[in-house]
Amino acid sequence: MPCPYFHINKIFPHGDRSGIAHLNRSRENWEAVDASNGKPDTMRLFDRNISRANAGSDANRAFCWTSAARRQFLKSLGALGARAILPGAIGLLARADARAAAASPNRIDVHHHHLSPYYKKISGPTRLTERSDPALSNWTPAIAVERMDQSGIATAMLSIATGGIPANLAGEQEQTLVRDSNEYGAQMVRDYPGRFGLLASLPMLDPEASLKEIEYAFATLKADGIALMTDYGDVWPGDPMFAPVFEELNRRKAVVFIHPTTPSCCAKLLPNVPASWVEYDFDTTRAVTSLLVNGTLTKCPDVRFIITHSGGTVPVLAKRVADMFPPQMSAGAPNGVEAELKKLYYDIANGANPSSLAALTKLVPMSQLLFGTDFPFVKMSITVDGFREHGFPAKDVKAINSGNALRLFPRLRIR
Ligand SMILES: [Zn+2]
Repeated sequence: MPCPYFHINKIFPHGDRSGIAHLNRSRENWEAVDASNGKPDTMRLFDRNISRANAGSDANRAFCWTSAARRQFLKSLGALGARAILPGAIGLLARADARAAAASPNRIDVHHHHLSPYYKKISGPTRLTERSDPALSNWTPAIAVERMDQSGIATAMLSIATGGIPANLAGEQEQTLVRDSNEYGAQMVRDYPGRFGLLASLPMLDPEASLKEIEYAFATLKADGIALMTDYGDVWPGDPMFAPVFEELNRRKAVVFIHPTTPSCCAKLLPNVPASWVEYDFDTTRAVTSLLVNGTLTKCPDVRFIITHSGGTVPVLAKRVADMFPPQMSAGAPNGVEAELKKLYYDIANGANPSSLAALTKLVPMSQLLFGTDFPFVKMSITVDGFREHGFPAKDVKAINSGNALRLFPRLRIR
């Protein structure tokens, strides 16, 4: 489809060039320069939105951008008046577009926890930190919906929280917690149509019971996927004991969200350092490495795995693991370790910061990134602000907000 050109000089008459933003060609990119002070006003979003610019004087140079950006620009004109936005007009356009896209009301939050009364009872008192949403101490489904509305989240995929749950929970205790959590989440999905989805838990230390729970979760509770932990009593998900469960999840082409927890081996290695600071990210890496070396990722190619927190330390260590991967384990990654890691999905909850996103986006294509918040354990604004400030191009913002998640959860297309 041809680009809808939009001429600067249609808005700014030739006689008033003093504040017109000029466009300078710089190698492959276009950068905006504020003509009022000559300083670059580089906006990567803007650069990528420009698909073509023709020759001519600065004022007559034509450019085009996405229709959403154009609409936002015209709206800005109406709201502020042309004179008010003349200096740095192009930068304003780009920033307004990024804000509008980031505040999309269609976000899908794939990392969102519910706190059932039973969970609260066994997990003990919650510990509020600077980063926690205050709602952690008085959480209700209605408060969750209120926060979602404030952050432009249309639907949140619910999963059980791990905080306060013993790492070696097993037997009847584990099964009771799992069933309670799944029933509670399913009720929230029913109570708030369109606002929630369910990622059901499994009592993984009992594979037989897990197979039954999979059937119950999908057939009766209409779950959208499964939520597993990075380890169960110091057994990581690639362990052969879990093979029947993953075979069944592969047969169902299930979405499997893998949430970090604290292995009992490593909960208190560093005094005064809670596990969530670093151990969660290391255990995420152990879980992914376990799936790799045991060949689960290749044996179960139809499982759509979601890894949390921008992959923890996975993206940083990916090449190191690839370089050291033993040849005798090559069946676990026939096309190489990095090829397997590129197929996984990664939520950006608490990982929407420059270094985490830089590492993640160096490893995986944009199609694998998902929006998530880790609410209520972490304020939504931490991920929302970090995501916005990263300055992804508008098309990637849209993909991360909802487009990529809709491929995993197609039922959410009808909302
Ligand atoms: Zn979480």
